[in-house]
Amino acid sequence: MSIQISVEKCTGCTLCLKACPFGAIKIVEKKAVIDLNKCTLCGACVPACKFKAIIFERPAHTCVLPNIKDFKGIWVFIEQKKGKVQSISYELLGKAQELSKKLNCQVSGVLIGHDLDDQLDEVAWHGADNIYLVQAPELANFQDEPYTKILVELIKKYKPEIILCGASAIGRSLISRVAINIKAGLTADCTGLDIDPDKLILLQTRPAFGGNIMATIISPNYRPQMATVRHKVMQPMEPDKKRKGKIIKESFDSSMYVSRTKLLDIVDEVESLVNLSEADIIVSGGRGMGGPENFKILEELAHVMGAAVGASRAAVDSGWMPYSHQVGQTGRTVGPKIYIACGISGQIQHLVGMQSSKIIIAINKDPEAPIFKVATYGIVGDLFQVVPALTKKFKEVLRK
Ligand code: FAD
Repeated sequence: MSIQISVEKCTGCTLCLKACPFGAIKIVEKKAVIDLNKCTLCGACVPACKFKAIIFERPAHTCVLPNIKDFKGIWVFIEQKKGKVQSISYELLGKAQELSKKLNCQVSGVLIGHDLDDQLDEVAWHGADNIYLVQAPELANFQDEPYTKILVELIKKYKPEIILCGASAIGRSLISRVAINIKAGLTADCTGLDIDPDKLILLQTRPAFGGNIMATIISPNYRPQMATVRHKVMQPMEPDKKRKGKIIKESFDSSMYVSRTKLLDIVDEVESLVNLSEADIIVSGGRGMGGPENFKILEELAHVMGAAVGASRAAVDSGWMPYSHQVGQTGRTVGPKIYIACGISGQIQHLVGMQSSKIIIAINKDPEAPIFKVATYGIVGDLFQVVPALTKKFKEVLRK
């Protein structure tokens, strides 16, 4: 790919300057100049130029386009660890069910492992109409190569329209390999998924350009459309014990199960003291806390409510709280029943990490703070008065 400015056509109007998210264009002697060290060849400047002065060359397509009409249904890769389905898969099934209503199609789970029969009901109760099941002792634990080969073969055979996968360590490793193998697009870490009502394609929304904008990404030409989503971003559906899933058992030649890597041991991650991802209530503090010593008042409130303490990146970057407490795009994604944001302005990078919380309570002295746009309840006031008052009241009510 290459990009250059046609000096004859450029009028120095600065439209391209404003369109460039990377600040890679400047005007020198009334002509636009592109700094190729900063330019990422994203192409955002090209449509902004009214004078067709930006010459942007991309290589011609080399992939054969699939026949899109052949692809049907939404698949969810069902992640299991030690024979137990992980909750992220239930969250994705819930979203897949919602999307399937707009596409009028079925939702299927793909479950790979060993001795998983006791997990099938739960998968169906959480939204799978079909379950593609591949079992073998060699597949008991996730391994990149065999899992990739199996998923690729299943995709080629059944042609799903959409595949959703958790943005977990397993999911990220697997689905990127699958995408390369089948030459399909993949949008990582989506925070929103929807269906375009006219084109009936997947709208995959995620923060882009360093989190400064929310981009909605589409894969109009290739199938399946593939997206990963982090834990706690989507909501699972209420399990319906009347639901039955159709089990489609698949088996492959044992050569498919061979891996060049050998699994030696599985060592459970030592959870940090704050298990933010699992907490039902989180009390978070931002720059408005004013210093590390003031987090004490949040810890007191958290203690009374049985909550975990979170923090914005501003608080973490200031060294007031350890990184393990950070909520947001580059921290943890959380979805508690109650999220109390104290002295947090509500920038998009923070919101993407907590906006699926059921109840959001914002305490901020600025009535215009963006956090109030997502808050269920907003308290405009000084947190140093509001937080101790809440602690006192909760102590009384909870008799602590
Ligand atoms: P500020 O924006 O400074 O807000 C402080 C708020 O406190 C203000 O609204 C103010 O009115 C209020 N306040 C002050 N004093 C009081 C008081 N006494 N009582 C009540 N209210 C008070 N941020 C994250 O949080 N998590 C991330 O994971 C994350 N990832 C990022 C990734 C990238 C690539 C980038 C570019 C940024 C990221 N950020 C992230 C940073 C984000 O853009 C914001 O800078 C950050 O969230 C701001 O933190 P804050 O709300 O605590 O601070």
